[in-house]
Amino acid sequence: MSEIARPTDSNYCFDVIVVGAGHAGTEAAAAAARLGARVALLTGNLDTVGQMSCNPAIGGVAKGQIVREIDALGGLMGKAIDESGIQFRMLNRRKGPAMHSPRAQADKRRYQEAIKYTIESYPNLSLVQEQVEDLLLQPCEDTSPDEQTWRQRVAGVQVRGGAQYLAPTVVLTTGTFLQAIMHTGESKTAGGRAGEGTSAGLSGCLKRIGFRIERFKTGTPPRLNAKTIDFNVTEEQPGDTNPQPFSFMTAEISAPQISCFITYTNELVHEIIRKNLHRAPMYSGQINSTGPRYCPSIEDKVVRFADKDRHQLFLEPEGRKTSEIYVNGISTSLPRDVQDQIIRLVPGLERAEIMRYGYAVEYDFCPPDQLYPNLESKPVAGLFLAGQINGTTGYEEAGCQGLLAGANAALKLAGKEPLVLSRDAAYMGVLIDDLVTRSVDEPYRMFTSRAEYRLLLRQDNADRRLTRLGYEIGLVDSARMERLATKEEAIAVAKQHLDAGRVGEIPATKYLRRSEVTWEEICQHVPQLMGLSAEIRDQVLWDIRYEGYIGRQEQQVDRQKRLSHKRIPAAFPYSSIVGLRNEAKQKLDRIRPANLDQASRISGITPADLALVLAHLESGTRKTNLQSNPNAATNSSPTSQIP
Ligand SMILES: Cc1cc2nc3c(=O)[nH]c(=O)nc-3n(C[C@H](O)[C@H](O)[C@H](O)COP(=O)(O)OP(=O)(O)OC[C@H]3O[C@@H](n4cnc5c(N)ncnc54)[C@H](O)[C@@H]3O)c2cc1C
Repeated sequence: MSEIARPTDSNYCFDVIVVGAGHAGTEAAAAAARLGARVALLTGNLDTVGQMSCNPAIGGVAKGQIVREIDALGGLMGKAIDESGIQFRMLNRRKGPAMHSPRAQADKRRYQEAIKYTIESYPNLSLVQEQVEDLLLQPCEDTSPDEQTWRQRVAGVQVRGGAQYLAPTVVLTTGTFLQAIMHTGESKTAGGRAGEGTSAGLSGCLKRIGFRIERFKTGTPPRLNAKTIDFNVTEEQPGDTNPQPFSFMTAEISAPQISCFITYTNELVHEIIRKNLHRAPMYSGQINSTGPRYCPSIEDKVVRFADKDRHQLFLEPEGRKTSEIYVNGISTSLPRDVQDQIIRLVPGLERAEIMRYGYAVEYDFCPPDQLYPNLESKPVAGLFLAGQINGTTGYEEAGCQGLLAGANAALKLAGKEPLVLSRDAAYMGVLIDDLVTRSVDEPYRMFTSRAEYRLLLRQDNADRRLTRLGYEIGLVDSARMERLATKEEAIAVAKQHLDAGRVGEIPATKYLRRSEVTWEEICQHVPQLMGLSAEIRDQVLWDIRYEGYIGRQEQQVDRQKRLSHKRIPAAFPYSSIVGLRNEAKQKLDRIRPANLDQASRISGITPADLALVLAHLESGTRKTNLQSNPNAATNSSPTSQIP
């Protein structure tokens, strides 16, 4: 670890230092700055701020919901994609509202510009091109959230060339760059992204500090020149006619939409892939680490789904002023000559030129059970980790962690309560809870199925769930808060009209609950509702139509909260619980959940394990009560109290 040099120029002293200006880092720096902290955002290359390493798209199923939540808390992503999107689609529109998921294809360059421009506009945020090589640490005896003693705290960072930046909090958001190796066929190069270097120093530093480090891999497909593609033989996929913005603050999307196109692989392609599997780093043994299961490479798909005679490929433009086409669905690390052969066997791509070859990247990450729920690290006080460094994959997953880590760094400095969202408040809450409670054994991406209260966590109500909280903390400005108040008022007035209206003998609100009744029909009977915006109409309709289901989910949340209130002392002796399985003892001992609710979500912890922990907790409480009040003994069985 480097020695801290003093005194230091005040230009190098900050409240919060964020390392890496990717999707997590930019949200982290902006969130900390919105809370009034003086922030330095240090990144290896100013020209790659907010760069989309892989797919030039934001949102999608469950990810779109996260972007709406980031926006509801005043974050950057929603506005940036509204400014730079070239094709907007609401996925799953035919399903119920919990599944509606916005997605947009981005003009990759304009997206980056939008993010960088916004970052540059924050008065208390300094964006500087620096390669961070080491962390500066100091001894410390602070008490951590699980009532242990931290032995070291972060004091700043050292950059290439030896300069030091000092701050009591540091947020690490270095993405896929830690000790990264890129693979294309047999060729291996050091680097976290094509054309860039690796961050070896920091990786070694984290190991020395005592972090457990593991390795994951991810991949990217080749990019083609649009001028060499025959789109006539592909299927066109246009955007929505009424594109819906991501940001609650964007009035409308007026930029013209660009189409994407669909084509397919075939048996000939699969045959060549099978013949060359021994040259694919994943199969030759050159790569051993785990990749994203739900985003497999084409070689993986051909092996795992051997019975499928074709796989869908989306041809997605990378921007308005570029010919580059991203081929979604054919991520690969096969050698270049094999990529050339397989591309030319796909209908429409017979003459296609590859502008960038596909590759895979292997990188270090820190398993996230080494973090507290505020994303502060367990080994070092004041050090926060967010984004792909925590074993996640995806821009949205990274962005929301960044926002929470940056906010929590600033809140810690201000001596305020951390911002920890519950699983019923936000997908962001589900994500963080999954990470810190269950850790990861493959790159973590968000799915709607990970959220148990999906009907509460809709994309359309993210502002109603989060904006007020954001405003109270200071993350959200008054313009956004006023917009929410106006929206709530319009919803309340519309509901009053419905309550007062009737359709024949039937109250209008009750009539609207019938699934076959259209909004237009109800407007005939309650004319005050005519002309209501689509946004307010949907809120009113879904609030009323799904009231029963929403009520049931809220009851479940209440039950879960009662359980969660049962706190587990930091030094709870799991190993001495008679009958508790060894696996459960080890996991509980390692993760040390703060309460029974968190314990219940640790993978592999069964209801029977929980019953034993609760019984032990209760017997401890009873002993204490008995000592202070010998008449307090009861005959009730503690295990029977689990709801
Ligand atoms: C080849 C490839 C393929 C991918 N494929 C997919 C996919 O198919 N699906 C998917 O969902 N996601 C994919 N991703 C992941 C996606 O790009 C990331 O999830 C997302 O970008 C993570 O955001 P982040 O902010 O954590 O890191 P990044 O966006 O990677 O940003 C990290 C930033 O930190 C900077 N940095 C790193 N080290 C230092 C240092 N020491 N000092 C200063 N600055 C530093 C870098 O320059 C960079 O700006 C892929 C990524 C890559 C590279």
